[in-house]
Amino acid sequence: MTQDKWCQLKQQLLTSVGHNHYASWIEPLVLSSIDSGEAVFKVPTAFLGSYVNQNFSDQIIRHFNEAGERVRSLRFETVENRRFQKTKKNAPQKIGEPNNKTHDANTPTSQNDILKAAPLDSRFTFETFVVGKPNELAHAAARHVAEGGPLSFNPLFLYGGVGLGKTHLMHAIAWELQDQKPKLNVLYLSAEQFMYRFVQALRERKIMDFKHIFRSVDVLMVDDVQFIAGKESTQEEFFHTFNVLIDQNKQIIISADRAPGEIKELENRIKSRLQCGLVVDLHPTDYELRLGILQTKVAQHLANSFSKQEIADGVLEFLAHRISTNVRVLEGALTRLFAFSLLVGRPIDMDLTQDCLADVLRASSRKITVDEIQRQVADYYNIKLSDIIGPKRTRAFARPRQIAMYLSKQLTARSMPEIGRRFGGRDHTTVMHGVRRIEELKTTNGQVADDIEMIRRVLEA
Ligand code: ADP
Ligand code: MG
Repeated sequence: MTQDKWCQLKQQLLTSVGHNHYASWIEPLVLSSIDSGEAVFKVPTAFLGSYVNQNFSDQIIRHFNEAGERVRSLRFETVENRRFQKTKKNAPQKIGEPNNKTHDANTPTSQNDILKAAPLDSRFTFETFVVGKPNELAHAAARHVAEGGPLSFNPLFLYGGVGLGKTHLMHAIAWELQDQKPKLNVLYLSAEQFMYRFVQALRERKIMDFKHIFRSVDVLMVDDVQFIAGKESTQEEFFHTFNVLIDQNKQIIISADRAPGEIKELENRIKSRLQCGLVVDLHPTDYELRLGILQTKVAQHLANSFSKQEIADGVLEFLAHRISTNVRVLEGALTRLFAFSLLVGRPIDMDLTQDCLADVLRASSRKITVDEIQRQVADYYNIKLSDIIGPKRTRAFARPRQIAMYLSKQLTARSMPEIGRRFGGRDHTTVMHGVRRIEELKTTNGQVADDIEMIRRVLEA
């Protein structure tokens, strides 16, 4: 199996295991070989391997088989994260060693796994983070913390939707701190890993070690903390760790997919402690930021590859426009374009983009509802929503109503009878008539055509 195919398979796994599991457990797997039914993966820690084996092996094997690859079992080989060690000397990998002499960093015992931070991605630095309006506050706060000046924000709580750069910023902070202050014990891990380490420590009766380790770090970063919602004993332990560190003026950085107050099943005392520091959110990306990210990624790609793949004018703008908020999807689209262009020997232009990204474009095009259309049209013509739906037949209401019907037919999958029902229970023949009328008007009346274009743009933005 080629790496390309494995990448595709990973994408399928992303859908079946979900984003959180994917980022923690599947993403780090590197396929090294498949031999007589056994797939061998390289993993950064033994813990990760055994966890994946226990929890995801069935799904991984199923996906292999569905892709026509006969795999019956998985094996995991622990490798030192070479990329990691090459680029940074003092990587925030192991912690607590001076106090735990018995824990030899080279033996992959399970006890040692408790000590290990999650590996940092060498691509996630401040240099590669593109700043725009939606993320400028979060970026500034992250920078501030990374510069490690007098403590002012503790904890720093970053939140925002999937793929908006939370993990990227956290890794960037860790790298920066480690560069500036190599002696600092920086521990980065996902809340899920925190939990499994905690559970493992309980099982192996190493809870004192666990406590000691977590409480001897200088900087603790816990990613995707929403994961521990509803998990009582983990929350309890997290809370204590958190308090001890804060009391010692140690920096804590937390991320979540929503604001502290909105995480259900998270104890109130934790919520309120999380809110004591600085809470900043990453807003959904806007067009300019998406375009900036695409341009940066293209430049990086070209700098790192031998082939000089040109991208036709308009392609990046098109992607920035059509792929909504998630940067991960945006990156995936770009990677696919480069790969596809290379494989089929075609230039990266609009044609190739449409062919190769049809599914992504379809999935990310937002669903517009009849309701929204009615509201936008009413707004645009400065009339009340009830006038669009209601019975009044004067031209000032009838024309916007017909335009709303026309747009509903064009932009939603609703049938004429369904549209009629949403317009105050009108008959489908009324809808049909309205739609036809606007189709005619569009060709004869420039103003109507312009109006429709404007409204459509607002709706599709
Ligand atoms: P989150 O943790 O919020 O779900 P990530 O930090 O994993 O998101 O980001 C998803 C992907 O998008 C990563 O590859 C990351 O490098 C990239 N990314 C997100 N925001 C930016 C940005 N502002 N500049 C550059 N890359 C970004
Ligand atoms: Mg993340």
